[in-house]
Amino acid sequence: MPILNNCPVCRSAHLAQRPEKLRDTADISVLQCGNCGHVFLDSFDHVGSEYFTNDQFLLSKPFLEGIDARLRHYEHENQERAKRVGPLVLNKTVLDYGCGAGALLEKIAGLASSIDGLEPTHSFRERLMARGHKTHADLGELDRSYDVILMFHVLEHLPDPVAVIKTCVERLTPGGLLYIEVPNINDALLTLFDVQKYREFHFFRDHLHYFSRHSLSEAIKCAGAEVLTISGHNRFGLANHLYWLRHGKPGGHKIWNFLENPAVFEEYTKGLAAADLSDSLVAQIRRHPAK
Ligand SMILES: [Zn+2]
Repeated sequence: MPILNNCPVCRSAHLAQRPEKLRDTADISVLQCGNCGHVFLDSFDHVGSEYFTNDQFLLSKPFLEGIDARLRHYEHENQERAKRVGPLVLNKTVLDYGCGAGALLEKIAGLASSIDGLEPTHSFRERLMARGHKTHADLGELDRSYDVILMFHVLEHLPDPVAVIKTCVERLTPGGLLYIEVPNINDALLTLFDVQKYREFHFFRDHLHYFSRHSLSEAIKCAGAEVLTISGHNRFGLANHLYWLRHGKPGGHKIWNFLENPAVFEEYTKGLAAADLSDSLVAQIRRHPAK
């Protein structure tokens, strides 16, 4: 299996191996760029052009078998995302890149002036089309520009994130917004708490990239775009973290949810974000308005 020789963000050949193993294969290792600090898998060969088109990709999370199970599992998260981006998409033309089964898309469709999905997985796309949504299979199919492009936890799956950011910015209307959320390698569970079980869980074959604030910013700059803001966001809070520390397993946000009301979640995650220890990063990129 060919090993990557250059950083997929800054192209530096100064790479070092990290000690982590992947949770789902022994054939792939984790590298870190000595220049921009980007963390990534040492081979992307397993992600061919067909990888995301069939349901094989979905089987990496077997507990989410079936579209309904996935929709239920991510309902809370999609509600939060809809609330967050609602004001940004109001009366705008929107593309939800990597829209999955369309949970977020359907929540914000009434706010946007129009919304398309971009989703390579056949089963999801069929569902979306059957429900009347315009859905593209890949970036090359887009035949128009959008005021807002949303990418929730998509960029870390794609072999060439710089090229994807560049194409997305080109597909924005003047003054348009690209909104990207990815996991943060500076996650408190990996850094502040240094939970070994979480480290063994965190790295897997579907996530090719593990961005930091700096490497995400570098990827945007390398795409010729300008960062408006990069901020921390948390999908998981105190109950989830304490459960990892005690039991070395995910799911604490549901099992120990009595520990955490919305106010506790908000204050705790605000502190993490201020210290760049959030589990996710949100980058907002604006295309220059036409002169
Ligand atoms: Zn680099």
